[in-house]
Amino acid sequence: MVRRIEGKTTAAAVIDKVKAEAARLERDHGVKPGLAVVIVGEDPASQTYVASKSRTAKECGFHSVQHSLPEGTSQDDLAALVDKLNADPAIHGVLVQLPLPKGLDSEPIIQAIKPEKDVDGLHVVNAGKLATGDLKTGLISCTPAGAMIMVRMVHGQDLSGLHAVVVGRSNLFGKPMGQLLLNANATVTMAHSRTKDLASICRMADILVVAVGRQQMVRGDWVKPGATVIDVGINRIDAPERGEGRTRLVGDVNYTEAAEVAGAITPVPGGVGLMTIAMLMANTVTAAYQQSGLAAPD
Ligand code: NDP
Repeated sequence: MVRRIEGKTTAAAVIDKVKAEAARLERDHGVKPGLAVVIVGEDPASQTYVASKSRTAKECGFHSVQHSLPEGTSQDDLAALVDKLNADPAIHGVLVQLPLPKGLDSEPIIQAIKPEKDVDGLHVVNAGKLATGDLKTGLISCTPAGAMIMVRMVHGQDLSGLHAVVVGRSNLFGKPMGQLLLNANATVTMAHSRTKDLASICRMADILVVAVGRQQMVRGDWVKPGATVIDVGINRIDAPERGEGRTRLVGDVNYTEAAEVAGAITPVPGGVGLMTIAMLMANTVTAAYQQSGLAAPD
């Protein structure tokens, strides 16, 4: 029987810990973690994500501020807001919702965020710390950090002797996920669109992590019996069985087929996706402890 790794309960446990750590920081040191979320434009999916981030931050007891800028905001104006938030001592985490509207260049904006406030973990300083094995003083990209918690729920802290295959090499997910697995002593293979015979490589994995953005690409016969499958993909497909014009979310893995073979698997929806916001809150608390000169909680 396959083990289903549920995002809801796992994320709830992270949030409970964040709430306790935020309360302790305020009680013992008079510091309330502060998170600023910046959104430019009207993209509905981004609006939903940002609203959810701001709401969760409030639930965690944070000082939560949202800056909604209009579609035509200039690069300079956005950079000026980031500078202001960098200088604000009540703000410990700054998140600029991506993607930015056409005409704005996200990379200089991400790199303008102070590394210690970069709660998305995308600044080169944080990416570099992860790459050099410093998991203590940097901030780690939220989705891979969440996926790693799910891997550890099955395999524990030390992945020695296990072969992990990560399909996808984005800066946002694939690369940091590979680094985290390597840091935990897994033997890591990174696969991508130029990889030959992807199915055979996936079949070698004790831990198969897929973040590609192609609906149900990984089939059941790509999965090694008993493997742990972490499906990061979020793809919206038509669902005429639910009524005309209806859609539903699926992952990059064919869940039904893979669940027949895998030992453990994350569902979509209800899996890794739910971890991202929880890890954003965890990063904000970590940032608040670090900026207060205190050791961040484990
Ligand atoms: P990107 O588009 O940045 O990267 C996709 C990666 O997949 C690339 O490395 C690409 O290879 C690789 N790829 C594309 N097609 C194939 C193929 N046919 N075979 C093998 N590899 C392939 O996507 P992201 O990493 O940002 O996201 C991936 C998925 O994860 C998306 O569905 C996204 O929605 C989801 N996601 C979910 C998050 C969450 O749950 N909160 C957060 C982040 C992502 P190459 O480099 O060679 O082009």
